[in-house]
Amino acid sequence: MIIDMHVHTQASGDSSATVDRYCRLIKRYRKFHPFHGLVITEHGIYDRQMTYRKIAARDDVLIFQGVEVDTNLGHLLLYGITSRFLQQVDVSRRMLDSQKVIKTINDCGGIAVPAHPFRSSIFGRALTKKEIKLDEVRIIEELNGSNSGEENKKATRLMEQTGLRGIGGSDAHFANPVWFLNCATEFENTVHTMETLVRELRSGHFRAIPLNRSSLEEF
Ligand SMILES: [Zn+2]
Ligand SMILES: [Zn+2]
Repeated sequence: MIIDMHVHTQASGDSSATVDRYCRLIKRYRKFHPFHGLVITEHGIYDRQMTYRKIAARDDVLIFQGVEVDTNLGHLLLYGITSRFLQQVDVSRRMLDSQKVIKTINDCGGIAVPAHPFRSSIFGRALTKKEIKLDEVRIIEELNGSNSGEENKKATRLMEQTGLRGIGGSDAHFANPVWFLNCATEFENTVHTMETLVRELRSGHFRAIPLNRSSLEEF
């Protein structure tokens, strides 16, 4: 299953995209290539009321929610947010203590993934120098659609050096093919809920993939 693990909508403030528009693009893309869903990861916003059930059902797209938080070491993508986690960490705050966030999300059954670790982030350097325990962070964002090729290559090199695993996501802020449908994560097994998505992330049966963009001129 192919899932974009990092997508923003207008709720993030620096984006004008809507879930509806993303899903319409996905529907067109799927006439040519496989694609199954996305994870909305707004900056500092986790909306407990969020439900896109109607759009998801209309377009047969999986829509999950995580969050992208700001920490002292850079942006962290969090998957598997629970009420217990939200009681302990105010995701809207900036410069959160990265160690505390990582420990808390792990304790609450979720998972933390440093986003774009070599762009506007100290995570890449900290992981290279092993200043972060690799049993606390096991996955980095290897492919980020808003990164340069060199920034993504640095992430791949870090994975080769450390055994970290990598996911892929567009980091789209606008629902058009320039920002969206450039990379994603391929899961070996079926993922239908955030619980199974976190389980598969923990089991390591996934990889970051660039998306086939050969059909995008048809858009
Ligand atoms: Zn970011
Ligand atoms: Zn982002």
